[in-house]
Amino acid sequence: HLNNAALMARRRAALPAGLGQSHEIFVQRAENAEVWDVEGRRYIDFAGGIAVLNTGHRHPRLVQAIADQLDKFTHTCFQVLAYEPYVELAERLNAKAPGDFAKKSFFLTTGAEAVENAVKVARAYTKRQALIAFGGGFHGRTMMGMALTGKVAPYKTGFGPFPAEVYHARFPCALHGVSVDDAMASIESIFKYDVEAARVAAIILEPVQGEGGFYVAPPQFAQRLRALCDQHGIVLIADEVQTGAGRTGTWLACEQWGPAAVPDLITMAKSLAGGMPLSAVIGRAEMMDAPGPGGLGGTYAGNPLACASALAVLDVFEQDGLLERGRAVGERLKAGLSAIAAKHPVIAEVRGPGAMVAIELCRNGDPHQPDAALTGAVVKEAARRGLILLSCGTYANVIRVLVPLTVSDAVLDEGLAIIGDCFAALG
Ligand code: PMP
Repeated sequence: HLNNAALMARRRAALPAGLGQSHEIFVQRAENAEVWDVEGRRYIDFAGGIAVLNTGHRHPRLVQAIADQLDKFTHTCFQVLAYEPYVELAERLNAKAPGDFAKKSFFLTTGAEAVENAVKVARAYTKRQALIAFGGGFHGRTMMGMALTGKVAPYKTGFGPFPAEVYHARFPCALHGVSVDDAMASIESIFKYDVEAARVAAIILEPVQGEGGFYVAPPQFAQRLRALCDQHGIVLIADEVQTGAGRTGTWLACEQWGPAAVPDLITMAKSLAGGMPLSAVIGRAEMMDAPGPGGLGGTYAGNPLACASALAVLDVFEQDGLLERGRAVGERLKAGLSAIAAKHPVIAEVRGPGAMVAIELCRNGDPHQPDAALTGAVVKEAARRGLILLSCGTYANVIRVLVPLTVSDAVLDEGLAIIGDCFAALG
């Protein structure tokens, strides 16, 4: 019979060490917000496959849509023989993205590829080279993804040189004393020390930094970035790979920036197709048309099973009220975590829009003393008690919740109770 320890031994022998693994658990099956391992143990899933399962494991509508498509065809390569679901998905995503202008979309497979392609579009359109990203940001594991990512270990260590002309500004974070003014000033410094604004193709940011620690870009920051981009002819890219598809209480997090900060290009992936590999670049039609024919695409990009699944994800949000449910899940999470924080001062902050919620652990609640050791211990203890959690953060001291928005109140409360028990036992 299969067991976790034996499978871990096979994994270690057959797979490279660079593939991380948060938990030494092998999955047998999963349903909505619950997972069972190969030994028959049940876990509550607050990780959601790293933000991929906003619609839960095996949502019936998605399973049906994928099965229906499976009966028709699984692959043609869209650039060879086209199919309608790809076009319908583009139309629906164009209509849902903010901004009173014509939009176009195209599809790829991973989040990193979407980022790569947004950069290609921005460079082709502006005929400029330089890019500005932010410290603590994460944009993927490809060469350009790594270059844009604002964290060295473990993402960049040993993998350089990276593409040139990428500069990092500071991301605002009130808890750690970086104001919006500081962040804007750091971009002016780049213009002064590194590259003239007239050569910058794009500024890329996550509306809420994901891997970086669930730090929220204040709408005022996005608005000032938008004004700066307008002033200098720079393309503004919102990387919504982790924030998109309803996680933050709106379909896209950048909707919360308001009409004064509409991005030119948006990347999506993860929950877009609810577990099928699919990513998207959505943006201004005139920018999207800049690359020449054949310059965009990919053999698997926009796979028909993944497009069918993504259309079902849209149906679930539009017809089953999943945005509203997600906001309620977020409120319940924040209330539960705040109650735990009230008893445990080591939780310095409970934050995040919608259901993109995290707690930050600092000794004595002092932001200057990140407690990575306790964070790791809580994640481990939670798994022992049947709850799958994920940490994140530049200082590895943040516990993030990416539970399916379809979770029941009962399972959500059960998970919250386990977190409370972990802090009572360890904190
Ligand atoms: N951008 C962001 C904001 C992400 O969170 C991630 C994945 N964590 C990526 C890009 C890369 O996505 P993928 O792993 O699918 O390449």
